[in-house]
Formats: sequence, C-alpha cells, structure tokens
Amino acid sequence: MSGLENVFVADRNLSATHAAQASARVAGPCFAMGEAAGVAAAMAVRENVASRDVPVDELQCVLERQGAILTPAL
Ligand SMILES: Cc1cc2nc3c(=O)[nH]c(=O)nc-3n(C[C@H](O)[C@H](O)[C@H](O)COP(=O)(O)OP(=O)(O)OC[C@H]3O[C@@H](n4cnc5c(N)ncnc54)[C@H](O)[C@@H]3O)c2cc1C
Repeated sequence: MSGLENVFVADRNLSATHAAQASARVAGPCFAMGEAAGVAAAMAVRENVASRDVPVDELQCVLERQGAILTPAL
C-alpha cells in the first residue's frame, strides 16, 4: 500500500517501462488517460467509493459510450 488514497494518475506520470513511456507520453494517449482519470474520479464521487474500488468494467463501458477506443484495431 503506498499510503496514497483517492489519487488518479494520468499522462506522463504513469508508471511504465521506458519503452512504454516513450509511446504513452505523447498527446493522444495523454488525452485518453486524462479522460479516463476524469471519468473514474466522477464515478468514485457519484458512487461514494474509493478510487481503487471504481469498477473497471463499468468505467470501460462509459468510456466506450463516449467514443473511446479501448481495443486497438489489429
Ligand atoms: C517540446 C515538446 C514537444 C512535444 N511535441 C509533441 C508532439 O508534436 N506531439 C505529441 O503528441 N506530443 C508531443 N510532446 C509530448 C506531449 O506534449 C506531452 O507528453 C503531453 O503534453 C504530456 O501531458 P501531461 O498532461 O503529462 O503534461 P503537461 O501537458 O505538461 O500538463 C501538465 C499541466 O500541469 C500544470 N501544472 C504543473 N504543476 C502544477 C501544479 N503544481 N499545480 C497545478 N498545475 C500544475 C502545468 O502547467 C501543465 O499545464 C511534446 C512535448 C514537449 C515538451
């Protein structure tokens, strides 16, 4: 446990390998991470749950309804 509760981290602050950071740090993925962090925070407040208890499957459904692409086209 980090001792840090109810904090959502997005964009360049994500924890990733050097290679993953190199691709995730650009604007597009940062916009997407920012949107996800914002929606997750709103869900946590609305459902009165801690950040770690936000249901990820529900979060993904909301993001997809908003037009987010969560599964890359192969
Ligand atoms: C020179 C340069 C060129 C780039 N060119 C491209 C490009 O062509 N295409 C591309 O996709 N990506 C590019 N990038 C990368 C991309 O812009 C960044 O990786 C992206 O903006 C990171 O988003 P972020 O939200 O992590 O940080 P930022 O966009 O830096 O946003 C952080 C925000 O937090 C604010 N802030 C900082 N401290 C505090 C505080 N204490 N309290 C309140 N607010 C605070 C800052 O003012 C800033 O507005 C470039 C980056 C740089 C530096």
